[in-house]
Amino acid sequence: MKKPAHPTPPPSDETDPAQQPDSLEACRRCDLWRHATQAVPGEGRRRARIMLVGEQPGDGEDLAGKPFVGPAGKLLDRALAEAGIPRDDVFITNAVKHFKWELRGKRRLHKTPGQREVEACMYWLERELQQEAPAVVVALGATALKALLDDAHARLQEHFNKVTRREGRAVLATWHPSYALRAPDAAARERAYLDIVSALEHARQLAAGK
Ligand code: SF4
Repeated sequence: MKKPAHPTPPPSDETDPAQQPDSLEACRRCDLWRHATQAVPGEGRRRARIMLVGEQPGDGEDLAGKPFVGPAGKLLDRALAEAGIPRDDVFITNAVKHFKWELRGKRRLHKTPGQREVEACMYWLERELQQEAPAVVVALGATALKALLDDAHARLQEHFNKVTRREGRAVLATWHPSYALRAPDAAARERAYLDIVSALEHARQLAAGK
């Protein structure tokens, strides 16, 4: 597949992990900017009580410049509605802001970001956490959990729907919505979906001070 055009020409071809950019467009802290269409910032209610953190933009998000607009986003919308949380009431972002992919035939397939890329992009996630100051953060998947706990060895199973206090926030973890789309059979997909709903309900209660 032809690489989509980058919307703004990069100011520099160099990658510099120590860079302290002022904008996502200028970020060269890791290599992922090179093959993505654009960086995808978080969006949603400013200073929301609940922040949701996924892994990285997917193909649709990379093209749209918005988080969780593809199939996983639609599943997340359904889970939020079932948990009684309007999507407009939360702030949604990703641990890594550029799409990492590999070409398979004509399709750009998701590649899991490496720990160095996650650490490089913590620069942006930390900013979002500071600016939005959520009371509750839901890690959608293991990559988000590792970033939020700043622990490369954090395991999803150990933190699943359990509260970990971190810098004044409650952090919960559940599946990434894409897992509930691609789990091997229908029963596993339904279980994963209900797990996500359950974590979101838990987040809603924590955000309400219950
Ligand atoms: S993935 Fe994050 S750290 Fe890497 S270039 Fe993009 S915005 Fe910068």
